Amino acid sequence: MVNFLIFGPPGSGKGTQSVKLAQKFNLVHLSTGDMLRAEIAGGTELGKKMSSIMAKGELVPDEVVIEMIAAKIDSAKNTAGFLFDGFPRTVEQTKELEKMLGKRKMKIDMMLVLDVDHDELVKRLISRAELSGRPDDKDPSVIENRISVYRSKTEPIINYCQEKGLYQPVNGVGSIDDIFERLSDKIKHFA
Ligand code: ADP
Repeated sequence: MVNFLIFGPPGSGKGTQSVKLAQKFNLVHLSTGDMLRAEIAGGTELGKKMSSIMAKGELVPDEVVIEMIAAKIDSAKNTAGFLFDGFPRTVEQTKELEKMLGKRKMKIDMMLVLDVDHDELVKRLISRAELSGRPDDKDPSVIENRISVYRSKTEPIINYCQEKGLYQPVNGVGSIDDIFERLSDKIKHFA
C-alpha cells in the first residue's frame, strides 16, 4: 500500500486532481471536505453542527475528521493505497494519521503540494462558486479566512513532512492536464 497526501491552499485544485489520480493509480480518494458536505446534505446531527463552522471557513474539530478517516480506511478493499485530500489540516491531525496508519502497518509515503499564488486562488474560488453552490466559495471574506487558516494551521505540516523527506512541490498553475502530468510523474515512481 502507498499513501499520498495532496496538499495546497483552498482553490489549488486538490479535489479535481485527486479524482483523476485515484482513478489512474487505483487509489482510494479520501476527502474530508466531501465527507463533511455529505453529512450536511444528509441532514445528520453532525452535519448540522459542522455547517456553521465550515460556512465561516474555520476548521472543524480534529477528532471529527480523524474519526471519519479511520472508518474509511478500514472499509476500503482492493486498493493500491490512499490519497488524502484536505486531511490532515493541522500538525495534530498529521500525528494522528501517522498513528492510525502505523497500527495498520502503513505510513505516509509522499506529500504532494500544489503551489498556486494568492490572486489565482481567489479568482478560481470566485468562479467555482457559480458552479459548486458552496456557501464558503461565495463570500470573499470567507475565502480570505480559509486561505489564512491554511497558512497558519495547515502549512506548518509542510515543514513537518519536509523533515521526514516526504515533501514534493508541484507547480499548480497551468491546464488541468498539465498539472495532472506533473503529479502523475511523481506518483508513478511509487504506484
Ligand atoms: P477547500 O480546501 O477548497 O477549502 P475542503 O472541501 O477541503 O475545501 O474543505 C471545506 C471545509 O471543510 C473547510 O474549510 C473546513 O471547514 C472543513 N474541513 C475539511 N477538512 C477538514 C479537516 N481535515 N480538518 C478540519 N476541517 C476540515
